[in-house]
Amino acid sequence: MLKDKNEQRTSISELGEFGLIKHLTKYFKIQQESTEKAIGDDAAVLEFSDKQTLVTTDLLVEGVHFDLAYMPLKHLGYKAVMVNLSDVYAMNGTATQITVSIALSNRFPLEAVEELYAGIQLACDTYKVDLIGGDTTSSTTGLLISVTALGEVTEQDVVYRNGAKPNDLLVVSGDIGGAYLGLQVLEREKQVFAANPNSQPDLEQYSYIVERQLKPEARKDIVKLLKDLEVKPTSMIDISDGLSSEILHISTQSGVGCNLYEDKIPLDPQVISTCEEFEIDATTIALSGGEDYELLFTIKQEDFPKIKANPHLTVIGHMTDKSEGINLVTRANQKIELTAQGWNSFKKD
Ligand code: ADP
Ligand code: MG
Repeated sequence: MLKDKNEQRTSISELGEFGLIKHLTKYFKIQQESTEKAIGDDAAVLEFSDKQTLVTTDLLVEGVHFDLAYMPLKHLGYKAVMVNLSDVYAMNGTATQITVSIALSNRFPLEAVEELYAGIQLACDTYKVDLIGGDTTSSTTGLLISVTALGEVTEQDVVYRNGAKPNDLLVVSGDIGGAYLGLQVLEREKQVFAANPNSQPDLEQYSYIVERQLKPEARKDIVKLLKDLEVKPTSMIDISDGLSSEILHISTQSGVGCNLYEDKIPLDPQVISTCEEFEIDATTIALSGGEDYELLFTIKQEDFPKIKANPHLTVIGHMTDKSEGINLVTRANQKIELTAQGWNSFKKD
C-alpha cells in the first residue's frame, strides 16, 4: 500500500495560491503527444488529430465519498484519478490527460496536499496520463477534489453502453465485491479505534479487499487485452455502483434482457471468507457493493473461443430478448428479477 508521511505542518498561506500550484506540479512530466501545452497558461492546448475525444469528470467530497480517518491522502489522490480513467477505458479508449481541481479548508497543511499530489503523480506515471491543469480554491468545510479525464478513441473502436444484442455473452474482468467489503472492514476498525485509541488494527487477513477499496486500479490492461485478442465488445461499462446497477444500464440502454448466473460471479476467496465472518451474502455484495472499477461488457457468441481461456475474464451470463426481463438465475436455478436496489429481496436469512 501507499505510505503517508505527515509529521511536518507547513501552512499553505506561506506559499500563496500560485506558489502552491507551482510547488505541487513541478515534477509532473508530459508523456502524451497530444498535449501541446499543459499547466501555466490560461488554458491547456491539445491536438487529437483524427481521433475522437473522450471527456469524463467526477467530484469527490470529504464525508460523502471518502473518510480521511482511514483513507490516506496519497490513496485518495490515486483513487480520484482511477475513477476517471476507468470511465475512459469503459469507452474502449486511451486516457491521455487529466485536470485536477481542489478545494481545501485551512486544516490541511502543505504536507497533506503534497501527499494528495504524490498519489495523483503515481497514477499519472503508471497510466501515462498528463496533468494539464486544474483549479485551486479554499473551502470552509473540508476537502473536495474534482478530476476530469480526457482520452482518445477511434470511431471504429468506441464502445457505448447501448450496443448489446440478444444472445451476446455478458463478461466481467477480475473479481467483484472486494472494494465494498474492504470498506466494511475499515469502518469496523474505525469503530474499534474510537472505542479504544490504543488498539492496533491487524488488517493482514483483509489485505486484498482493503487494497481494493484504498487503491483500485482502472483496467487499462483489459482494453489492451481485448484489442490483442481482436474482440470488440458490443457494449461496455465500468463497475462503479455494483454489478446489478451496471447490468441494468447496459440492458435498458441496449433494449435487451439479461440472465446473470449467480454461480458464475467471480469472487476472491477473501471476499467469500469475509462475507462468512460478517454473515452477509457474497452475491448481495457483488450485486450491490460497487467501487470495484472492473469492466463489464458484452461480446458476440462467436468471440467466445478468443476469451474463454483467459484468467482475467469471466462469462457471467447472456443477453436475451427484452421481453424476458433482467434476471439473476440463482444457484437453486430460480429466476429473480434484478433491480438496482433489489438485493434485499434475495438476502439470505
Ligand atoms: P486562472 O486564474 O486562469 O484560472 P489559475 O491561477 O487558476 O489560472 O491556474 C494557473 C495554472 O495552474 C493553470 O494552468 C491551471 O490549469 C493550473 N492549476 C491551477 N490549479 C491547479 C491544480 N490544483 N492542479 C493542477 N493544475 C492547476
Ligand atoms: Mg483558476
